[in-house]
Amino acid sequence: MSDDPFAAPRAAHGRAPDVFRPGGWIPMRQHRQDEPVDFVIVGTGAGGGTLACRLAEHGFSVVAMDAGPYFRPLEDFASDESEQTKLYWTDDRIVDGANPLQMGGNNSGKAVGGSTVHFAMVSLRFRPAWFKSRSLLGYGADWPLDWREMWHYYSEVEDALKIAGPVSYPWGPRRPRYPYRAHELNAAARALADGCEALGIKWTETPIATLSAPRGLAHPCVYRGFCTSGCATNAKQSALVTWIPRAIAAGAEIRDLAMVGRIETDNSAVATGVHYYRDGQWRFQRARNVVVAGYAIETPRLLLNSATGRFPDGLANGSGLVGKNLMVQSNQAVWGTMEREVRSYKGPPSLAITEHWNYEDKGKDFFGGYCYMSQGPLPQLWANTLMSARGLWGARLIEEMEKYNHVVGLKIVGEMLPQETNRVTLADETDQYGLRIPRITYAWCDNDRRLIDHSLAFMTQALEAVDATDLWRQNDDTCHLNGAARMGDDPFTSVVNADCRSWDVRNLWICDGSVFPTVGGVNPSLTIQAIACRTADRIKTMAGRGEL
Ligand SMILES: Cc1cc2nc3c(=O)[nH]c(=O)nc-3n(C[C@H](O)[C@H](O)[C@H](O)COP(=O)(O)OP(=O)(O)OC[C@H]3O[C@@H](n4cnc5c(N)ncnc54)[C@H](O)[C@@H]3O)c2cc1C
Ligand code: SF4
Repeated sequence: MSDDPFAAPRAAHGRAPDVFRPGGWIPMRQHRQDEPVDFVIVGTGAGGGTLACRLAEHGFSVVAMDAGPYFRPLEDFASDESEQTKLYWTDDRIVDGANPLQMGGNNSGKAVGGSTVHFAMVSLRFRPAWFKSRSLLGYGADWPLDWREMWHYYSEVEDALKIAGPVSYPWGPRRPRYPYRAHELNAAARALADGCEALGIKWTETPIATLSAPRGLAHPCVYRGFCTSGCATNAKQSALVTWIPRAIAAGAEIRDLAMVGRIETDNSAVATGVHYYRDGQWRFQRARNVVVAGYAIETPRLLLNSATGRFPDGLANGSGLVGKNLMVQSNQAVWGTMEREVRSYKGPPSLAITEHWNYEDKGKDFFGGYCYMSQGPLPQLWANTLMSARGLWGARLIEEMEKYNHVVGLKIVGEMLPQETNRVTLADETDQYGLRIPRITYAWCDNDRRLIDHSLAFMTQALEAVDATDLWRQNDDTCHLNGAARMGDDPFTSVVNADCRSWDVRNLWICDGSVFPTVGGVNPSLTIQAIACRTADRIKTMAGRGEL
């Protein structure tokens, strides 16, 4: 077999790569295509990978497909930003609207493990009130979930990923101690902490999904700082090295380099399986249930591309909301220069955080919240930021790059409000598989702008308080795609119910960031994984009652 993860599927012939042993393999059950499996899952990231694992552990037969390759981090990943662009979903997409989104590495991954292979590992719980933001806080939409139940599933995921975090978390209801001790602060994180203390607000070590102590064959973090380019040591607890090996051990089959182009439904509005392209040809996998977990662009795209005579507007779209209420999070920053060396690239990008403005509502002229974190951009990303955000080039760019080791920065993850006009639709253009590509339309609303302005002013004060100089604001950056197939209690105003089950096609499920009705002011992957764990438990319960 070729050693190139893109040349041919690696998960085949009854085995899958052993991500913990160079050149190693683990046995993997394989399923026939013409016999229906209990669940076929499209996407193996935070949502799909977690669900595949937990459904297989509950005894269901599972095939999980991913359009991306099956990487071996110990061998395939390099400390090289350019080389690692292979992790990103870079297929053609059209962006428009007043604030077009930047796609590619900033926003989505294409690999077994999904975007968690190159995510920054920040693992935060929602503020409880956000699950009922419409009723309790007056904006957005209520989730059909109760925070107390989510608190249970957050703990399950934190334990599964051995999240490293502080002994006690300063905000929100009590939670168990994090399984692994917090990482030491780097100098960039120390600057955040000093700024918070000067302004009289709380801060803490960021809870992150990278090991602070050994775990089986995975080594603790070595603070190389290449997290968003893929972790070559397996310290990062991505789905690729956590849920996926567990899923395979429990009997799930993973199919890499398998692009799903269409979900098939029969005349009685039941999903019968998926058409997928693998190894040079289109194939069909029969299934009793289909789960879509392709992230907030590819999930609505697949549902829309699966339209039939009976469902001319796409599957699961009786509400007309598939593709609508897409949300990113604001990701603006304030940067400065310190007299001393900071070398912010040492270690994971964010090692300290404040959620002050997620939990404090007084003094705000906007709905929602934001956290802000210390930052550690790698050199190429930093040069790109200087070019795109400040227009620096040539001698001016070189002059700024020479200050790289002294740069300090704070960046928000901010809540953007759901708006139906922010959406994913199908463009007329097609991709390499002949499938219509997504068009992504986005515009900030006034509330989004007020939140951004507040955060930039506050972070400026925080950097001034630690004597950073040459401060400048990065006004336009976004991260994390969510929404576009929201969950709810009402089939007229939501796409799936609390169990991630489609209202229209009863054996079609959506289990990824698309189901978020609101995004909150924290990074989403912990919540996506908690929902996936809950969904697996609910499916087990429903199966036991004959309700599947
Ligand atoms: C640079 C970066 C940093 C981030 N940092 C953080 C962080 O610190 N903390 C945090 O909580 N979140 C972070 N995120 C966000 C987080 O990674 C995502 O929210 C999360 O992974 C989304 O989970 P998902 O299951 O919706 O999709 P993904 O994890 O992206 O998984 C979707 C998978 O589906 C596959 N797929 C899509 N369509 C098809 C199809 N038609 N056929 C077959 N396969 C398909 C894709 O290849 C992909 O592998 C970051 C994201 C990025 C890009
Ligand atoms: S800093 Fe830690 S998590 Fe990030 S790439 Fe290095 S070893 Fe992996």
